[in-house]
Formats: sequence, structure tokens, C-alpha cells
Amino acid sequence: MGKQILIIGGGVIGLSTAYYAARKGHSVAVIERNAAQRDGCSFGNAGMVVPSHFVPLAAPGMVALGLKWMWNPRSPFYVKPRLSRELLAWGLKFWRASTPDHVRRAAPLLRDLSLASRACFEELAALPDNDFGLVKKGLLMLCKTERAWEEEARTAAKARELGIPAEVLDARKTAALDPNVRMNIAGSVYFPQDCHLSPHRFMVCLQRQLELLDVRFHWNTEVTAWRVSGNRIAAVETTQGDLTADEHVLCGGAWSPVIARGLRLNLPMQAGKGYSLTLPRPRQLPQICAIFSEARVAVTPMDGSLRIGGTMEIAGLNDAINPARIHGIIQSVPKYYPDFKPEDFDGLQPWRGLRPCSPDGLPYLGRARNWSNLAIATGHAMMGLSLGPVTGRLMAEILSDEKPSIDIRMLDPERYSS
Ligand SMILES: Cc1cc2nc3c(=O)[nH]c(=O)nc-3n(C[C@H](O)[C@H](O)[C@H](O)COP(=O)(O)OP(=O)(O)OC[C@H]3O[C@@H](n4cnc5c(N)ncnc54)[C@H](O)[C@@H]3O)c2cc1C
Repeated sequence: MGKQILIIGGGVIGLSTAYYAARKGHSVAVIERNAAQRDGCSFGNAGMVVPSHFVPLAAPGMVALGLKWMWNPRSPFYVKPRLSRELLAWGLKFWRASTPDHVRRAAPLLRDLSLASRACFEELAALPDNDFGLVKKGLLMLCKTERAWEEEARTAAKARELGIPAEVLDARKTAALDPNVRMNIAGSVYFPQDCHLSPHRFMVCLQRQLELLDVRFHWNTEVTAWRVSGNRIAAVETTQGDLTADEHVLCGGAWSPVIARGLRLNLPMQAGKGYSLTLPRPRQLPQICAIFSEARVAVTPMDGSLRIGGTMEIAGLNDAINPARIHGIIQSVPKYYPDFKPEDFDGLQPWRGLRPCSPDGLPYLGRARNWSNLAIATGHAMMGLSLGPVTGRLMAEILSDEKPSIDIRMLDPERYSS
């Protein structure tokens, strides 16, 4: 028999969980403190579906790179120095996780999750009136320098070992693959299985599918506290009154640890702020989404416009826009696409979003240890859109007391609890 399920957070993870849970016959409601279709992290991201991202953020070399970039306000990665116990503890855990062994264990799991999610996107795109602009043309890692190209070629070799197709291309072959845009590069790696889509349209489509499945929405409703009884959640207190259910799923993105306060969960998390700018009429429109390898900037064609996004700024839970970082993104574009000019971006309103980042670069997925009717789905960092549908599918299996179809023990949400 179907259960009453309350999902906290209306981002891509919350809505995907709601979709697959409702499809299994559960009665589902979503609580979201904002209005419908507001511009949160799940709406303005780069829209990439990335089997190519099988290396977690916590990987060898990342700590050294982070320390080097920390002193450059325009760099792709920035940790705002601040006296915070949580930040220090998170940094220590990140450093401990950044080992070859962690990458070796995480990569096959990230591959399986990504490929399963890609298949879910294909299924969703085939539903009637559910066009969210899925383009299955792959992704190019564009390298300006021979050094970066060699490094990306090594990643391509690892990808092929994992069964993920990856082709190392020189500048001429790259230009032949995407003749719509002039590039100034040493070479690239092409990942043909990657895709891109319009995240805003995807979220709108998901919401419409949920309405068709009779999922209820509590918009403008903020979860403020939990009422517990023994080892169960008895009710969720919100700004619009108490809500009760058989099962609760925490999908609060970067705010998840704040929402979970009082439940004695240990969910180390930092908000990783990123920015994007969307050129409505770009000088040239590439067909294939790309990442500028050295600059760590993502470029995605989207419904005739071109979205350019990047930076990871660990600066707490705040929405402030840092102009130096926007400048860094804009300056990188003509370096790879020489026909573009920094002035192309004049007057554009930057978008920003907070990625939910766990210290080992892996999501938190599964049931809470001490609460029999609480599950957690968060911490997807740079891959929340890409892994959204498979997360929803796995959470629906867990909520239905089935064995998850992918072994996700590595993603235990209580892996940092003692
Ligand atoms: C610049 C940039 C580019 C990116 N590009 C990509 C990409 O190409 N591919 C990819 O896979 N990922 C990408 N990402 C990452 C992706 O956007 C995130 O991983 C994803 O959106 C996280 O989704 P979420 O549902 O966990 O969190 P969110 O979308 O943040 O949703 C959490 C929701 O919880 C709500 N909430 C918080 N507190 C409460 C409360 N107390 N009560 C009720 N509701 C509450 C929030 O309002 C929010 O709507 C990018 C991110 C950025 C910033």
C-alpha cells in the first residue's frame, strides 16, 4: 500500500524524488520555502548531464590547487577565510578524502549513477509534452595548453578503462566537430555520451509531471523544526502549520544541515557558490557543450542562447555576488572563443546558486540511522542536475523498502556519524 511521503526541498533532487515516489503509488507532498519556479540552484545551472564526471571533487591534487587558487580572486576555486569550526572540520575531511583510493572506489559508482540517470533523462524526454531541450551531442573538454591537454588525455584513458567513451582530439578535429564556433585551443577531449538540456525547462516539466501524478505542493512554506516521538518523526513544523506523514525525505540542498538541526545528524556540508551568465544572442553558437579545462568554466548552448558558468566559492550560506569572480568567468571566454569580447557581457544580470558540497564529493543518499521514517538525498555538489533522476529513482526504491538497484552503501548519509 502507498505511503504518505513528505519531501522537504523543491530543487531538482526533491522534485525527482517526488516523481519516482509518486510513480510507485505513494501519496507525495513537497514543501518548498520559495514560490514555484523561482531561480534557485536547480534552475540556472549549466544544464550538463555528465557521465564524464566520474572523478569526485575530493581527488588528489585538489587541495594543492585550492590553496594556490585561494589567493587569486578571479580563480575558479576560492575559500573565503573565516573562523568557522564547520569549515575547518569540512576542510580536514576533504583533505582526508582526496586520495587515489577514494577516486578508485568512487569512479565506478559515479559512472553507474550517471549512466542510469542519463537513461532516465531519455525516458523523461520521451513523455508526451515533456520537451526540456535534451541534446545528446556530447561534451568537449577544451584545453588551451599542451599540459592541460595531456592531463585531460590521461583522464580520457581512465574513462575508457571504465567503459566511458572518450576521444582525444587535436584542434583541427575539434573544429571539425563543432564548426559553429571558432576556438583557440591546443586540443580537446570529447565525451560523446554527455548531454545538455535547459535546466529551467526541465524543472518546469518535472513540476507538470508531478501535477499529473497528483503530488501536492506547499510553496512559500519553510520547515522550521521537527517534532519527534521515540525514534520517529511525528511532524514537521512549518511557517504554515504542522505537517505529518509516514516518511520524510530531506532534500534541502546546501541548507540541509540547517533544516536538520535538532535531529542530531552529522551532515558535513559547505555551500559552493557558482555563477552563470546567459548571452541571449551570442556571436557564435556552439552545438556541443564544453568545459574550458584550465579556467573550469562551463559553456552550454541553450535554446539559442549561450550560458557560461563557473567558479566554486566556499563563502558560507549567502547569496552575495562577488564581482571579481564574475570578471574571472568573462575574461576566460575570449581566451578559448577568440571572436567573443568581454563587452558582450555588458549589462547582463549574473545568476548565482549554492551547490551542496559534501567533503568527499559524493552525495548523501539513504535512510537516517536513528530515525525510522527519515531519509536523506543531498550533497550532489556539481552533479545535482545530472544525478537528479537516478537519485529520485533510488530514493523511491528505498522509500518502498526495496533493495536499491545500484549499490549505494558508499553514499550512506551517516558516514560521518560516529
Ligand atoms: C554555476 C553552476 C553550474 C552548475 N552546473 C551543473 C551542471 O551542468 N550539471 C549538474 O549536474 N549540476 C550542475 N550544478 C549543480 C546543481 O545545480 C546542484 O547540484 C543542484 O541544483 C542541487 O539540487 P538540490 O535539489 O540538492 O538543491 P536546491 O536546488 O538548492 O534545492 C534545495 C531546496 O530546498 C529549499 N529549502 C531550503 N531550506 C528550506 C526550508 N527550511 N524549508 C523548505 N524548503 C527549504 C530551497 O529553497 C531549495 O529550493 C551547477 C551549479 C552551479 C552553481
